[in-house]
Amino acid sequence: MQIFQSASLLSAYLHHPHQQKHQIGFVPTMGALHAGHLSLLQEAKKKSNKTVVSIFINPTQFTDAKDFLHYPQHTHRDIEALLQAEVDVLFLPQASEIYPQNYRAKKYELGNIEHIFEGEIRPQHFQGVCQVLDILFSLIQPHEVFMGQKDAQQCLVVKRLIKSQNFSMRLHICEIYREENGLAMSSRNERLDTIDRQRAGILYECLKDLAENKKHFDEKKQQWIAYFQKENISVDYLSLVDAHSLEKPTITTEKKIILIAARLGGVRLIDNIECK
Ligand code: AMP
Repeated sequence: MQIFQSASLLSAYLHHPHQQKHQIGFVPTMGALHAGHLSLLQEAKKKSNKTVVSIFINPTQFTDAKDFLHYPQHTHRDIEALLQAEVDVLFLPQASEIYPQNYRAKKYELGNIEHIFEGEIRPQHFQGVCQVLDILFSLIQPHEVFMGQKDAQQCLVVKRLIKSQNFSMRLHICEIYREENGLAMSSRNERLDTIDRQRAGILYECLKDLAENKKHFDEKKQQWIAYFQKENISVDYLSLVDAHSLEKPTITTEKKIILIAARLGGVRLIDNIECK
């Protein structure tokens, strides 16, 4: 595995005439890798022959300074996991490599989607996501990009970014990888203590129950909210929406999704389920 910290050296390597035949599959991450990330890598390896992973904790997408400061970092462990997974290239930049002094932030037109759910609770979050991905996509010029359905709203935002910036890559959205109790894997899960990590499986139970009973969504939702209150789990949102717009479903809605964000044990968790 080749490890690059320098953007210009990475670019020179990837776009060297000898590399032109390669189909680049790119998996952007913030590190603290878990089996969910590795499942993305596996997809990337199936669909491309040069796998590139980035590990960069992007400061511009954090609205909470404490969350940024406490974001888990396990660089050595991550490198071991990437070696095991036989990844070809790891890009591990410092912030100054991504945002040099002369960097001027662009404003991305994302529509209402950047202001609802995660965007309402974390203003500017999706602008920050677009900033870093615009830079990484331009630098790496991947043919295929692999991201997780766990961050459903992020996937929709990235689709818009790809379209608006005329990137030619294909975006593959990979299914949510879960712990044994159903909790969606996340780097933040390691901040939960053992009891809360076990308890957190209830979010998926809730999503499955609501998806099975979507005709009685409002009534069931109230029951779940009351239950969560009792369990000291505070819900930021729990909504049944159109899977493409994340707006209220209409008669033209083809696919629906239930989104949840909740805090327990001081950790904010997000998850979702598609409704048939
Ligand atoms: P992150 O490191 O949290 O920025 O995540 C990097 C990529 O991994 C994103 O595309 C996430 O959606 C994806 N991802 C995170 N958790 C999971 C999971 N449990 N299953 C599948 N993909 C995931």
